[in-house]
Amino acid sequence: MTPDEFRVHGHAMIDWIAGYWERLGKGGDGEPEFPVLSQVRPGEIAAGLPLEAPEEPEAWAKIVGDVDALIMPGITHWQSPSFFAYFPANGSGPALLGDLLSGGLGVNGMLWATSPAATELETRVLDWMAALIGLPAGFHSTSRGGGGVIQGTASESTLIAMLAARERARRLEGRVGAQPGPASDESGGAARPVQVSNQNVEDRFVVYTSTQAHSSIIKGAMVAGIAIGPNDRRRVRLIQTDERLAMDPRLLEEAMETDRAAGLIPGYVCATVGTTSSGAIDPVKVIGAICKRHGAWLHVDAAYAGAACVCPEHRWMLDGIELADSMCFNPHKWLLTNFDCDLFWTQDKASVTGALSITPEYLRNAASEAGAVIDYRDWQIPLGRRFRALKLWFVIRHYGASGLRAFVSEHIRLAELFEQKIRDDERFEISAPRSLSLVCFRLKGDGEHGDQKNNALLAAINASGRAYLTHTVLLGADGHGRVVLRLAIGATMTQERHVEAVWELIQACAEVI
Ligand code: PLP
Repeated sequence: MTPDEFRVHGHAMIDWIAGYWERLGKGGDGEPEFPVLSQVRPGEIAAGLPLEAPEEPEAWAKIVGDVDALIMPGITHWQSPSFFAYFPANGSGPALLGDLLSGGLGVNGMLWATSPAATELETRVLDWMAALIGLPAGFHSTSRGGGGVIQGTASESTLIAMLAARERARRLEGRVGAQPGPASDESGGAARPVQVSNQNVEDRFVVYTSTQAHSSIIKGAMVAGIAIGPNDRRRVRLIQTDERLAMDPRLLEEAMETDRAAGLIPGYVCATVGTTSSGAIDPVKVIGAICKRHGAWLHVDAAYAGAACVCPEHRWMLDGIELADSMCFNPHKWLLTNFDCDLFWTQDKASVTGALSITPEYLRNAASEAGAVIDYRDWQIPLGRRFRALKLWFVIRHYGASGLRAFVSEHIRLAELFEQKIRDDERFEISAPRSLSLVCFRLKGDGEHGDQKNNALLAAINASGRAYLTHTVLLGADGHGRVVLRLAIGATMTQERHVEAVWELIQACAEVI
């Protein structure tokens, strides 16, 4: 494709996307043009695709035409204003244009030297964002031991933090034959002599998170070789939660003490700010103090809720974050930046790079050798990396901090509105305290029958094509798990009328199930 042809086809593709967004935005009233949840059966899309790749070049018009014919029926419309499932993966014009530019420049920013602008812009926008969500100085690149980096996903951040934690434990153990003491900035903390088992750190390193934490923490432990499969609890502890579904710090400390007494190393705690099921907020400050006492690494997973911290009134959720070694949140969830974009900050970059750095001869270069630059390949699992900072830079500049705050605040207002509708209807109940833009609710009714009713309600809503919600199971006051519907507001185009429409739909479906 010549540059001239690209120009023509590119303009047409942008027109297509803009038209798609316009059509999606009209949804909410009446029959949707696109069912929000794709209604195809397994294999239906594949059945329309040729079994073999074409031998001869095909006309561009034919290729693009096939997007409408073959692909669109199998799309679930995450950008629909009536998408309320999971957590959002929203986006925006500026973000998409940033991604397009990144693709056009086509740089691989693995080393500073392979595109200095990619590294230096990333460092700067991470500092901007750290300031926008109120992270203390220790997480900024201007500190001695800290800084931020863009990862693909929160799952990668969780894993990287775990590897860094183990690296620090290994370093401290090796240095003095002792277990790590309270962490401090780059050094990771002084060590205090204790009786040491002669097993190595790998075999004794224990990971803690709550029963409500995202599955990526256990998956991280599996990848790191700490757990063999999702049910291996030999070195993974799932701490019970309190009535608000937040980690119970007392139980965390008990578990750490028991492990320490057994010669294990309480090495890594992942606290969640905004759990996936209900948006619960673990008490970071108390957990941070416990981690300091035990020399454990504290990672804070704020994948969804972190975005809300652009608003000062929501920053209480990160109270105590100065005690954490790392944290992450996903602008690709709820901050107008299309997937993928997870921001990871640490106050202990030496442990991160210590765990991930390896330098073969062919990557050696003067700038890296001089230690004058950041090479982000040392902060992530793959070597290569896209220029993702561009899209974030465009988003922050296009909307400004005030625009980001207004965006998040409006969704929270809409969630409050929806919560009130649930409370005002005696057929329904709120199943967990509303958290930001996430409302968990259900039709009243106990036992299996209650669950069946709620499953049927969800199925009817999603089969209508007019909205998409997902479910979870939350413990009720009686200690039994109950099927609960989640309404997570966060799509870029969602307005009050879409929330009104989904409430009407829910009521209508509740009548007929
Ligand atoms: N952590 C939390 C609290 C989440 O809610 C999610 C996804 O919804 C994740 C982690 C995983 O996110 P990612 O897809 O970026 O790995």
